Amino acid sequence: MAYPKGRRSPNFKDLVGKRFGRLTVVERVGSSPEGQTIWSCRCDCGKFATAKGGNLSHGHTKSCGCLARDRAKEIHTKHGKCPRSGSTAEYALWKHAKKRAREQHVPFDLEVADITIPKTCPIMGTKLAVNTGKPRGNSPSLDKFEPEKGYVKGNVWVISYRANAFKSDFTVAQLKSFVAAIERGPGCDRDVNAARNVLLAGAGAAHKRRLRHVA
Ligand SMILES: [Zn+2]
Repeated sequence: MAYPKGRRSPNFKDLVGKRFGRLTVVERVGSSPEGQTIWSCRCDCGKFATAKGGNLSHGHTKSCGCLARDRAKEIHTKHGKCPRSGSTAEYALWKHAKKRAREQHVPFDLEVADITIPKTCPIMGTKLAVNTGKPRGNSPSLDKFEPEKGYVKGNVWVISYRANAFKSDFTVAQLKSFVAAIERGPGCDRDVNAARNVLLAGAGAAHKRRLRHVA
């Protein structure tokens, strides 16, 4: 049953002048279809917001929305980053890395301050663009230099999502062979194969050297 603006609902309580969190009730602006009074309130931050009487008196609505935003900022600050532009993206990378480290059972000792998003992808040279939702090719992505070492200080860098996917899909030898093949073009299959074998042998030796170095 709807209550038109001129009529008051049966459970009407005058809330004008009362405070609920950051909100001070200014005036009644109408009723909801279920008969709840809707109030216009001024928030401590200066903005106006409308709220149902029940939500105010039960403590569900305490601000124009600025309270939740301030809390989110506080969380980011706690993890060692000032609430400035860009901090949210770095915090998001940190949070996802922490989750992946748990899933992959690899070490994790990063703080948000250890993560810096560069202007361009250090591999592709393309501009990085922070976006929300599903990552795109040019979204920043945290990559482990040596995967087995995990997400630890000095072993991570921010590269484009596309470069990261590419890097994990192919070995260094395959990437070298890829470049050699494109540079040579068609009709040189034998040369390309020979070059690739040389590269594979070289990359294998380099990999062994690195493993020895790690051990
Ligand atoms: Zn506010």
